[in-house]
Amino acid sequence: MPLAPSVPRPSFRRFHRLRRTGGLRDLVRETRLDPAMLVLPVFIDANATATTPIASMPGQSRHPMRDAAAIAERAAAAGLGGVLLFGLPEEKDAEGRAAADPLGPVPGALRAMRAAAPDLVLIADVCLCEYTTHGHCGVFDDAGRLDNDASLPRIADAAVAYAAAGADIVAPSDMMDGRVAAIRAALDRDGRPETAILSYGAKFASAFYGPFREAADCAPQFGDRSGYQLPPANGREAQAELRADLDEGADMLMVKPAGPYLDVLANARRSFDVPLAAYQVSGEYAALHAAADRGWIDLRRAATESLVGIARAGADVIITYFALDAAAWLAEERR
Ligand SMILES: [Zn+2]
Repeated sequence: MPLAPSVPRPSFRRFHRLRRTGGLRDLVRETRLDPAMLVLPVFIDANATATTPIASMPGQSRHPMRDAAAIAERAAAAGLGGVLLFGLPEEKDAEGRAAADPLGPVPGALRAMRAAAPDLVLIADVCLCEYTTHGHCGVFDDAGRLDNDASLPRIADAAVAYAAAGADIVAPSDMMDGRVAAIRAALDRDGRPETAILSYGAKFASAFYGPFREAADCAPQFGDRSGYQLPPANGREAQAELRADLDEGADMLMVKPAGPYLDVLANARRSFDVPLAAYQVSGEYAALHAAADRGWIDLRRAATESLVGIARAGADVIITYFALDAAAWLAEERR
């Protein structure tokens, strides 16, 4: 009896089959970006009389209050997930009192944005460093030491002021221990149980914040932030910080910066069920722009790839200075 013709067994998998056409690649694509997951950081400067470009962050500016409504309209029209507000006050002091001023740049911008774009998600960064003369994220005691516990009520007061002005979400970035619990208690005391907290739980002491400090005029005048921000080498400690913030009442968690900390993000994705945000910071943005300006990389492709990487690692929300650009690129791809 003749043997059945033998079918050669493949000795390797042909991955190329599903990469053959654009249609096939789209069909099996694992990670998709959507403008609704992108959040645009916005700097509102109480002393600015005109829109002031930030040299180290091409395309980004410090805005006078009167720009706020138009920015909100643009973000809403682009389908962005939201905006994240930072404020530069008229005056700074050692305690950062202006952070909680109901007439300060962030509350003013929140009210203007809420009126201009009622459905846009408004997120207010909460920290003292833009408001303190020394540029640190908390206050100091008489001995010149950072006073974690004395900083908490000031940070909580700022969060309440932003919630009262219309923030959907307050986002503490100061890295003081216990601030999420302090903010949750203050919001609830003020009758604002609906205001959500996005905690910058895993915020590393990073060199990639450089351009932001020009943007927000908040470079520390002495020392650095390594006494309270996470050491870049410590992934397990980052997990512990995130878990503590969740236990204190955070509704969402953030990893910052994004690109150098994708493992932290991926670990957080496996460990926590809450929405995760990642902040692609100023230095990541500036580096891509600088390389593209020299003709060394293609900005659109490199920026898109960086965002896809952050999403693939597990971010539900990406805070990025590319938000408006990326929304335009995605809209173009769909046409
Ligand atoms: Zn700060």
